[in-house]
Amino acid sequence: MTLRELKVCLLGDTGVGKSSIVWRFVEDSFDPNINPTIGASFMTKTVQYQNELHKFLIWDTAGQERFRALAPMYYRGSAAAIIVYDITKEESFQTLKNWVKELRQHGPPNIVVAIAGNKCDLSDAREVTEKDAKDYADSIHAIFVETSAKNAININEVFIEISQRIPVLD
Ligand code: GDP
Repeated sequence: MTLRELKVCLLGDTGVGKSSIVWRFVEDSFDPNINPTIGASFMTKTVQYQNELHKFLIWDTAGQERFRALAPMYYRGSAAAIIVYDITKEESFQTLKNWVKELRQHGPPNIVVAIAGNKCDLSDAREVTEKDAKDYADSIHAIFVETSAKNAININEVFIEISQRIPVLD
């Protein structure tokens, strides 16, 4: 069986659920009192999919303004970026668009971008429609999913989709 190593970084406003997504993916659990990420944290998870082992090297970056300057260190060598917004916070969707622009200008030219509209379990408080987000994602050729780290919705799926989009380098 072949092993692929895939470096992935998470970007997005503070509080959108980046750490919770990583925690759900790596540990399959949810901690409502998860500690805010300081700077960046690193975790790995290996999953088997279609006769291949995919080892994800995951950099979870802090969204706070004072850490933004560090983000290039993490996205520069990344094969993919998951940019997360909170479906109950319109502002976080605007921030996501700024991250897309920054990646286009300064990120690796072929970086795979996935947009994750997190907290889809809170649809009563929704501020960003699924259609608006999907249309935007389509316009930039990004993967799009709505996720819930809390209820384990589309978390594994977004990582697998990423791995299927990243070209195999021999
Ligand atoms: P980060 O700053 O982007 O890393 O966000 P965190 O992972 O620290 O999450 C911020 C807050 O949102 C925490 O209180 C989490 O418990 C909560 N949260 C994260 N994901 C979800 C989700 O899918 N649904 C709900 N309802 N809350 C979530």
